[in-house]
Amino acid sequence: MIDHARYAAAAREAVIAASIVCKEVQDNLDKVSAMTKDDKSPVTIADLASQAIVGIILKQKLGEELHLVAEEDSAFLRDEDNKLYLDATLAAVKGVWPEATEQKLLDAIDLGAGDTDHHSFWTLDPIDGTKGFLRNQQYAVALGFIENGTPTIGVMGCPNLPVDLSEPFNIRAEHGCLYMAIQGDGVYESACDDVNSEVIRITRLDHVAGEEISVCGSVEKAHSNFSDTDRILEWIESNGHGHPGEPARLDSQCKYAVVARGQADAYLRLPTKKPYVERIWDHAAGACIASESGAFVTDIFGRNLDFSCGRGLEKNKGIVCAPPRVHGLLIRAIEELGIGKD
Ligand code: AMP
Ligand code: MG
Repeated sequence: MIDHARYAAAAREAVIAASIVCKEVQDNLDKVSAMTKDDKSPVTIADLASQAIVGIILKQKLGEELHLVAEEDSAFLRDEDNKLYLDATLAAVKGVWPEATEQKLLDAIDLGAGDTDHHSFWTLDPIDGTKGFLRNQQYAVALGFIENGTPTIGVMGCPNLPVDLSEPFNIRAEHGCLYMAIQGDGVYESACDDVNSEVIRITRLDHVAGEEISVCGSVEKAHSNFSDTDRILEWIESNGHGHPGEPARLDSQCKYAVVARGQADAYLRLPTKKPYVERIWDHAAGACIASESGAFVTDIFGRNLDFSCGRGLEKNKGIVCAPPRVHGLLIRAIEELGIGKD
C-alpha cells in the first residue's frame, strides 16, 4: 500500500530544495547561458541542478521504492568538452546539497532515467517553462506521481508566482508559491522556499454565470494556437456568455495553479498546425492540482488525460482545464468551431 501522505511530504521537500536552487541560479541569470537540445528547446544548468536535487532527495526518502521518469539526462554534462557546465551545475547544488561531488551529481541526474512500465512512478519536469525562466518570468518545478495512468500526487514549485492574486504575473515574487495535491484530499499552498512555511488548504470558488470568463495560456505561440483561442472567446461572447477578457499569458504549469487558485477560469492549450504529443511531465503535477481544486482537466475533445501511454499523452490532443460550467462551454465552443478536426 502506498502511503500518499509520506510520498507527498517527500515530494514537497524535494521540490522546495530544487526551487531554492533555481531561484539562486536565476539571481545570477546574467551568467547563465542556455544549451540547445536536439528538439531545439533550451536547457540550463538550473534544469540539471533541479533534477539532481529532486532525484537525490526522493531517493533518500523513498529508497528502492523510487521510480522516476524525468525530462533531462546527464549526457551533456558527462562530455568533457562541457566541464565548465558541470562545474557550474555542481556549484549550483552545493547550497542545499553540500556533500555533492561530480560523480554523485551525475548519478543523481540519472535517477530520472526510470521507465514508465511500473504501475506507479514519479514524473518530473525540473524546470517547466525554461523560456520563462530565461526571461525572468514564470516557470515551475513540477513533480507528479502517476498510478495506473492517473496522477494521484502533484507538487509544483512556482518560484516567481506572487501569492497575492492581485499582482500581475510579471512581478517576481519574493518567496514564490508551492502547490501540493493528493487525489481526494484537495489543494494546499505554501511558500516554495521554506519547508517550515505555513501550509494552507485553498478552495476554488466556481465561476459565476454572467461574470467575465478569464482564460490563460502559453506565452509561446508555438505551444498553443492563439487564433483558435480568439475564435473560442468570440464564440463565448456571441453565444451570450459575456465578454471574456484578453487571455493572460504565462509560461509553464503555473497555468494549472492559476486556475486552481481561482485567478483564471480556464487554461487553454490548443493544438497548433505542427503535430505534437504533450509530454507527461508537462501535465502530471498541474493536472492533479487543478483537478483537486474542482476543475475538469481534459483534452480538447473532453477526454480524460491518459498517462498510461509512456512518456507522451499519445491518446490526447491539447488541454482544456476549467471548473465544470466553463469547461462545458469551452468543449461546446471547440466542437462547434471544428477545432482540432483537421
Ligand atoms: P508552456 O510554458 O505552457 O508554453 O509550455 C512549455 C512546454 O511546452 C515545454 O516544456 C515543452 O515541453 C512544451 N512544448 C514544446 N513544443 C511544443 C509544441 N509544439 N506544442 C506544445 N507544447 C510544446
Ligand atoms: Mg516542460
